[in-house]
Amino acid sequence: MSTTLSRTQLTSFLACQRQFHLRFQQRLPWPQQPLEEKVEANLSLGQTFHQLLERHFLGLEVDAEAMAHPRLRSWWLAFRQFAPSLPNGRFLPELTLTTPLLHTSKGSYLLNGRFDLLIVGTDSQATPFAHLFDWKTGRPRPESSLRQDWQTRLYLAMLAESSRAILNAPAPLPPDQIAITYWYVSEPDTPRTLPYSAAQHAQNWADLQAIATQIDATSDWPLTDDLALCQQCPYQAFCGRQTAVFPPPEPPEEDDYFPDWLPLEPIAP
Ligand code: SF4
Repeated sequence: MSTTLSRTQLTSFLACQRQFHLRFQQRLPWPQQPLEEKVEANLSLGQTFHQLLERHFLGLEVDAEAMAHPRLRSWWLAFRQFAPSLPNGRFLPELTLTTPLLHTSKGSYLLNGRFDLLIVGTDSQATPFAHLFDWKTGRPRPESSLRQDWQTRLYLAMLAESSRAILNAPAPLPPDQIAITYWYVSEPDTPRTLPYSAAQHAQNWADLQAIATQIDATSDWPLTDDLALCQQCPYQAFCGRQTAVFPPPEPPEEDDYFPDWLPLEPIAP
């Protein structure tokens, strides 16, 4: 048996083990509350913007019809004017990566992530590097918050562990040759670049392995103590917490707009 862990699954497990079990192992339907029309429209635009940048980095023509939308056009113009400095190298837009994490007597644990853009190459000193770029159309966040986010920790850790295969190199990249840049449409001249380090990677990898070990050892899937989380959870009836009320849902980030459901076991061909 193999279990694949994405950012969504990691955060779900850390928030409530029962929710992780019901949603990703029992595969109970996860009904999303309807979003406000405006929020839904913004998410759709965010998705279109990602597709637009993917086409751009693939060298394809940008969809002229998409440019008819004023907000999308303003995001595109902001990108054209203030795009973060991109290093020379091989451009890999919308790259999906799966990285082995842990193997136990019960099976394998894999990490999964999709990068908006990965650039790999060599710098002016002929030293190999890998740089991730992530496009954001949501509310900007400070570097300190992004540094703690599981997206950052997961993506950088996966890249460090998979760099040898990606670069077809004799050895993995040192973590300090890896970085991620977040670029926000609403603050286009202030990209957030987070460098990586060996110490950060050791910590991230140890934490990821500890989570997989905990999943491997868990059988009772305890309920969270955080009742505020239950208020937004569609599984209240399964947990006897149906007295909770549903406040308006937090709008997901545009990254969450993409299909994120991952099989916990490979589907046989
Ligand atoms: S209702 Fe609460 S305890 Fe039950 S799965 Fe959801 S978050 Fe966890």
